[in-house]
Amino acid sequence: METAYLNGSFLPKQDIKISPDDRGFLFGDGIYEVMKWYAGFFYDPQGHLERLRRSMREIRIDWSQSGDFLAVSRELIRANSLDNEHALIYLQVTRGTAPRNHAFPEPAVEPTVYAFARKAGGFKDDPGPAVPVLLTKDIRWSRCDIKSIALLANTISFQNAHEKGMKECIFVRDGFITEGSRSNIFLVADNIIYTYPQSDYILSGITRKNIIRYAGEAGLEVREEPFPETRIHTLQEAFFCNSSSELTPVSSFGDVKIGSGSAGQVTMKIYEQFRADLASLKG
Ligand code: PLP
Repeated sequence: METAYLNGSFLPKQDIKISPDDRGFLFGDGIYEVMKWYAGFFYDPQGHLERLRRSMREIRIDWSQSGDFLAVSRELIRANSLDNEHALIYLQVTRGTAPRNHAFPEPAVEPTVYAFARKAGGFKDDPGPAVPVLLTKDIRWSRCDIKSIALLANTISFQNAHEKGMKECIFVRDGFITEGSRSNIFLVADNIIYTYPQSDYILSGITRKNIIRYAGEAGLEVREEPFPETRIHTLQEAFFCNSSSELTPVSSFGDVKIGSGSAGQVTMKIYEQFRADLASLKG
């Protein structure tokens, strides 16, 4: 039986009930966080807590017990017997339940906080085969920095890629490559690593932040600069990254092939640094 969390209680998941008047259901009015458990520790829990609080601040939701995020996450791991497994924590906070009205409830209502844990893959021996991705127009809103639960543009775009047998879709805005539907992207040209700057147009990924650090530790040059779509044919390597599957090399952007079909040298250096960090966190 799966145990999930709702508003202060741990319950059998099948018993959880959320009101149809919940603003998450009616408006997508909420934010979420996803954090990985590596059979004994959470990866950058402080980074996830800070981003959770920032997302809430940006949309003016107050979950006064946000300090419980890590304790709730840990209890979900324990209650679902995942201590020695790899797992993901998903936690979402919505503005709460009130009759449908665009204006925020007045007075404010308690937010709805829902979380679950799910078994995930571990850190692989190598980054695996490079995968094709779809390049597509970024049809999302202009506040992609907020980890909003309203993900329709992401799901439609991802589905288009999926139906073409591609593993991710990578967005292009104003001629520049921004990020994926559920990942950040790194691009290597002239032995320099490019990634879109932290801004309203990307989610500030926890994995992205740490990969920039790993690259620095490996003596690689990273530029947080927009990379133009027109230069895609000059790429030596590319990979996308997120909390659930760490780092995935890219073999092609649409019709444009890059690299040899597996992770390139720069990608491998970063991957090894990632592995060393996880080993040191394991202690
Ligand atoms: N960008 C988007 C749009 C995402 O949905 C995600 C993860 O879900 C990321 C980037 C990567 O973020 P993180 O590394 O914190 O998982």
